Amino acid sequence: MKYAIPKSERQVAMVLDLNKCLGCHTCSVACKKMWNTDEGTDYAYWNNVETMPGKGYPARVHDPDTAGRNLAGETKRGQLPGLDTGYGRAWKFNHKDVLASTGRETKEWLRPTEEVKWGPNFDEDQGEGVYPADNHYFYLPRLCNHCTHPACLDACPRSAIHKRQEDGIVLVDQDRCHGYRFCVEACPYKKIYYDHVRQVSSKCIFCLPRVEEGVAPACARQCPGRLRFVGYRDDQEGPIWKLVEKWQVAIPLHPEYGLGPNVFYVPPMSPPKLDEQGRETTEPRIPLAYLESLFGPAVQPALDVLLAERAKTKRGETSELMDLLIAYNWHDNFKLAPGLREVLA
Ligand code: SF4
Ligand code: SF4
Ligand code: SF4
Repeated sequence: MKYAIPKSERQVAMVLDLNKCLGCHTCSVACKKMWNTDEGTDYAYWNNVETMPGKGYPARVHDPDTAGRNLAGETKRGQLPGLDTGYGRAWKFNHKDVLASTGRETKEWLRPTEEVKWGPNFDEDQGEGVYPADNHYFYLPRLCNHCTHPACLDACPRSAIHKRQEDGIVLVDQDRCHGYRFCVEACPYKKIYYDHVRQVSSKCIFCLPRVEEGVAPACARQCPGRLRFVGYRDDQEGPIWKLVEKWQVAIPLHPEYGLGPNVFYVPPMSPPKLDEQGRETTEPRIPLAYLESLFGPAVQPALDVLLAERAKTKRGETSELMDLLIAYNWHDNFKLAPGLREVLA
């Protein structure tokens, strides 16, 4: 199917600098506590943080078969991730035993009450490679990309998904949704979830009520790494335009799907591999081919710019890009509406 919807008048967007992510999951908790603690979406994380290389969340989301491919303006069906093998069920803990315990018996420690075989972050901090020569991993926080050409919207036969003209945020009208889950199959990022109690789809709303007041989304505002930038793509004074268009160091995840994601990533730089004598080589630990499998061919040019600007600061010169990425003042990370300032203390 060819995309029928017009581009929104403006597009709100987010940039995440992967060189600064701590993997602390504050973003995931901030989002979950605010928006989806209901029983039907207890398994779902509108925002999640993956250890890469890894299986991702839901499992194997970065594999073409799971995701489905969206090339040349065509929507193809991917897979519905299963609760046990894809998302992982929400774990039940033995809170009662722990509260009644003296703390002396290890069996009473807070732990899942059933055997857990898979779940979000099950492979956290594992990564790849062999210590000390080339072990490596990095964190990849993910949320809905509020795509310019949303596959979820295209796939919905009920016209229950729409893209707001004023800011490009993609929303589900749950009164119209009949829970067919075509959207879940179609989204290659697997960022739309089925609420199995209410039997409707649900997804990230880009913290719409906050954004309308000029306040950054919870996942961005709560991030202790100050690595998330929020603003409009056409605001040439804002961080998004500077990082995506001017410096071209922020690039989308899986551009090959052709959906025009509006979440961008500054790719991770990595230290060099060591040779058998423990000396540094010129080869980066994170293989370029792996980064390209995630971010496409724009990775190397982005890394080149980052390395050149970092070298400038090492020589004592100033770099607008490095100053922006360091985020000395958290207010500078968020520019949501001209004239409006972040109001949260
Ligand atoms: Fe839809 Fe998926 Fe794009 Fe979000 S990331 S707008 S759920 S296709
Ligand atoms: Fe959750 Fe808001 Fe972040 Fe979306 S923008 S992932 S709704 S906190
Ligand atoms: Fe990374 Fe920030 Fe999320 Fe922590 S809150 S995991 S630093 S994006």
